[in-house]
Amino acid sequence: MAVTVFETGDIEVEFECPVDPDDLLFPNVYVGLEIDLLSPGDGVVTDRHHASADRYEADDPMNQIGGQISPFTLSGWLRHGCEAVLQEAGATACHPGEPNADYMRAETYERDLESGYHEKGACTDAHDAGCVVYDLFGGFGDQPGKLLRRPVSFSPIRRQVDVLDGEAEAHYRQLSSQVRSRNDEDGGQPLRQADRDVLGNVEGTWKLTLREVKPEFVGLLVEAVSFLDQHSHEFAFQVGGARNFGAGMADAWVVNPLYSEDEVRRVFNRAQDATQAMERKDEIWRSECRNAFVRALQARTAARDGDLPMPAQGGDGS
Ligand SMILES: [Zn+2]
Repeated sequence: MAVTVFETGDIEVEFECPVDPDDLLFPNVYVGLEIDLLSPGDGVVTDRHHASADRYEADDPMNQIGGQISPFTLSGWLRHGCEAVLQEAGATACHPGEPNADYMRAETYERDLESGYHEKGACTDAHDAGCVVYDLFGGFGDQPGKLLRRPVSFSPIRRQVDVLDGEAEAHYRQLSSQVRSRNDEDGGQPLRQADRDVLGNVEGTWKLTLREVKPEFVGLLVEAVSFLDQHSHEFAFQVGGARNFGAGMADAWVVNPLYSEDEVRRVFNRAQDATQAMERKDEIWRSECRNAFVRALQARTAARDGDLPMPAQGGDGS
């Protein structure tokens, strides 16, 4: 088993992990997801050629389609949550776009820079690692992010889903919608047909891996995922497309990093409830651990933005 060592070089407060770091799931972070309807903006990669929607029969094994949800859709959603957490704290985040890009709407980009964003990479002038969003998600070509974001593999068959591998149960459909003529004389003939890939009842994990385990990264991820969960019905924080149709409203949480791998599996096993040991770990995470990571985030943010308060040394921050 790998030994976890926290990298604390970018924060100026003492970071003490209240539990043995080797008892934590890091460098992996599991984001639990429950999404009734998901329409990934860039489509779904399925593992076979499949029947068209009108020939679909749910009990035909040939139609039990698995595949992958693209990490781009999920990454953009998570990044947006991270930006919002920094902005709520009074700091700015890296703009996701390159500063020299040819924007369709230059004035809109300028407005972004006046409301909670700085030019991508501008934060590296003062501090090599840049802001925490830059550090986590990566900067320009040669500057990889410290967060590995995988696709989520899905299957409609629950026993084939391994949540420790970042997999989910989900049911794929290709939906066709038609725009029909409104003119009586034309008898409502179809004018246009559009196909859309959707997944129903997504339930499982998105597995993230930190290439460097900095405590402020953990703090940002737990805060961002909780923000996204609380704002899941807002257009801006839904994930993927078809948002006006209720797609992409995600119940999301970071699976307790204190859990063992068996306990992570148990969370998603409908036949089993949480054990007392898991409930005890939930209490320890809530009361002793989570805040230590969030304080590290506050310290990193304050170090870059001198107007923000540094968390009190040794305080519990509550
Ligand atoms: Zn930045």
